Amino acid sequence: MQLSSRVLSVSESVTLKLNEKITKMSSSGRHVYNMTAGQLPFKPSPEFIHSLERQLNFLKSYQYSPNAGFEQLREKLIAKTEQKRNVKFPQGEFDCVVSNGSKQSIFNVLGAVIDEGDEVVVLTPYWVSYPEMIKIWGGVASVVNSRTFDNYTPPLEEIEKAINSKTKAIIVNSPNNPAGIHYPDEWMKGFAKIIKKFPELLVISDELYSEISYFDPSPTYFYQHDPELLSQTIIVDGISKTFACTGLRVGHCIGPRNIMEAVSKLQSQTSSAPNSLTQRALIDFDFDLLQHFFDPVKQQLRTCAQIVREKFRDHGMAYSWYQTTSAFYCLLDFSRMPFFENYAIEDSEDKSEHIVQDILEQTGVALVPGAAFGHPNSARMSMTLEVAPFEEAMERLVAFMAVKSS
Ligand code: PLP
Repeated sequence: MQLSSRVLSVSESVTLKLNEKITKMSSSGRHVYNMTAGQLPFKPSPEFIHSLERQLNFLKSYQYSPNAGFEQLREKLIAKTEQKRNVKFPQGEFDCVVSNGSKQSIFNVLGAVIDEGDEVVVLTPYWVSYPEMIKIWGGVASVVNSRTFDNYTPPLEEIEKAINSKTKAIIVNSPNNPAGIHYPDEWMKGFAKIIKKFPELLVISDELYSEISYFDPSPTYFYQHDPELLSQTIIVDGISKTFACTGLRVGHCIGPRNIMEAVSKLQSQTSSAPNSLTQRALIDFDFDLLQHFFDPVKQQLRTCAQIVREKFRDHGMAYSWYQTTSAFYCLLDFSRMPFFENYAIEDSEDKSEHIVQDILEQTGVALVPGAAFGHPNSARMSMTLEVAPFEEAMERLVAFMAVKSS
C-alpha cells in the first residue's frame, strides 16, 4: 500500500533512534546521564492526586463529557487565565476548548485557520511539532531565526518582514522549549505593536511553561500591553508541565468564539473531549494549592543553571554560554565550541545528530539533537536530573566540548 504524500512529508520524531541507543547502552551496564526528558521526574501534587481519587467512584467520570469539555472546567480555565494574566475576555465573545493535551489544541487551531499554501510564522528555536503540524494541514512554515548571542530572542524587525498577505498566523512559545528562556517584556511590547498593524493575523501563544520561571522577571505576554489584541490571540495551555501530568493528556485553548467553534467541530469528528476523570478532578481541585509546588524545582533549576555557568567559565567557553531562566531546558550551541572543528570536514550543514551520538558514546550524556528545533549544530539538554548527577554530567559534557582532538 502506497502511503499518503501527506504522511510521507512528515518527519519522524528525532528521539526514537536515540532512545533505542540509550536503552542498549543502559542494558549493557553503561551508566547513561539521560538529559533528553521533556517532563519532570516526579508525581503531581498529593492534593491533585486526591482530587483524582475523589472522582474515581462516579459514573460520570467514565462517560463522555461534552465535546469541548465540561462547561464548569472551561469557565474555570478562562477565569484562572484572566486572574493570572490580569486581563478580561469580553463576555460571550471568547470560549475555551479542552483537548487531549495542548499538542492537540495547537493542531486543532492550525486546522481551523490554515488553507492550502497559507503561511505560519514560527520562531527558532521552535518546539519540534509546529512545522510538522503546519505541513500536515497544507500550510507552509515561515521561519524567523534567533541567535544564541541574543539569548534566542528573535529580532522583531525580522518577524515583521516575514509577515505577508499569505500569513495566517504566528506561533509564539514563551517560556521556550528548547531554549529555556522567556522573551523580555520589552520584546513583548514591541511584538504587540507589530501585531496591531496586522488585524487579520492570528497569534497562537503557547504558554505551557508559564509557571516555570526561576529567575526574575517572570514571563509576560504581548496582549497584556494591549488587551484589544486578545481578539487576535489563542492562548494555549495545559496540565502537562505545570501539574507534572504529561500522561493524563489534558490541554486547552482559549480564544475568539468562532475559532473555538471550529476547533470544537474538528475535535468532535476526531478524538472527542479528553478523559472525563481528569476533567472532573480539575473542576474539583483548588489551583491555588499549586502555588508552592514548584518552589523546590525552581531552586534546583537555579542551582543547575549556576552549574552550567560555572562549567562553561571553568573550561574557557564563557562565550558559548547564555543565561537560562525558564522551562527546564538549555540549548547548547556547538557551532563556536572548540570540539566543533573536529566535524568541520563533514559536508552536511547540520552535524547535530552525529555530534549527539558521539557525545553519548564518549561521555554517556544523552541529549536531543537541535536541528529538529530549527537550530542546526546544537542540542537540547534537560535540566531535570538531581543536582549531583547533573554536575557530573555537565563536567563530562563541557570537558568533551572544550577540547579539539588532535
Ligand atoms: N508546546 C510545547 C512548547 C511543548 O514543549 C509541549 C510538550 O513538550 C507541548 C506543547 C505539548 O504538550 P502536551 O500535549 O503534553 O500538553
